[in-house]
Amino acid sequence: MSDNGSVNNVVRTPTARAPKADATLAEAVETARTALVEAVGERECGDHLGVVAEAERVLTHLFTALQPGYVGWRWAVTVARAPRQKVVTVNEIVLLPGDSALVGPEWVPWKDRMAKDDLGPGDLVPVPDGDPRLVPGYLVGDEPLDQTSSREQREVVEDVGLGRERVLSVAGRDAAADRWYAGVNGPDAAIATAAPGRCGSCGFLLRLGGPLSAAFGVCANASSPSDGQAVSYDHGCGAHSDVRVEDSQHQPSATTPVFDTLTWDTWGDAELEIIPR
Ligand code: SF4
Repeated sequence: MSDNGSVNNVVRTPTARAPKADATLAEAVETARTALVEAVGERECGDHLGVVAEAERVLTHLFTALQPGYVGWRWAVTVARAPRQKVVTVNEIVLLPGDSALVGPEWVPWKDRMAKDDLGPGDLVPVPDGDPRLVPGYLVGDEPLDQTSSREQREVVEDVGLGRERVLSVAGRDAAADRWYAGVNGPDAAIATAAPGRCGSCGFLLRLGGPLSAAFGVCANASSPSDGQAVSYDHGCGAHSDVRVEDSQHQPSATTPVFDTLTWDTWGDAELEIIPR
């Protein structure tokens, strides 16, 4: 309801399941405004925006919030009344964001937020029992196990000393292969597209064992940015073992410097002479 007593636009239209706006509460704009001004002061209380029916005989009046930095926010004053009573009471006053309000991004749990570069010495990243990237060490199967059997089997594996409790599953292995192939050590990296040869033909490539050996090896060239990392056979770099001295004679031509510190300075037609001390 506006100051002249007429009901403003209802923000949420009642549906079959939504509560119906109580007429007595909807008309209590001045009651809500008075309580709001008492709580936050006249300067921060703007126009009445509408009402929201919360429940039977419970309704919220919305007012524009005028404090700096809260564009699009609204004061929400919730009022209620008892059955067969006309007396309106104010339940609570809160500041709520409207549709156009500037609000913080949605909360993301730290384990989903952490990037690999965030991991420092002493930091821990726990792996859950049901992680689909891992399977019990003696299985190497595709199906992740439920938590109970996983724990029991881990104890057995530990007891009989079968080695690693968990190893990469097929899903975990495929995800790693996709990630590596699309990354800086795959065929589409800029350094690979300009390389004179591929890792598959390079003497510095160490062969891997296991299923990933069909597509990846480890670079063992200290001159390569991929040294010590898994590289795809169709990756490559300028430190390929077939590169010879004559191939590396090519020097890029120097461009004209913006600030010339290489040649003599001149003044008009006269050349300045630099006198050594
Ligand atoms: S030196 Fe270059 S071409 Fe050779 S294995 Fe390493 S990354 Fe591949």
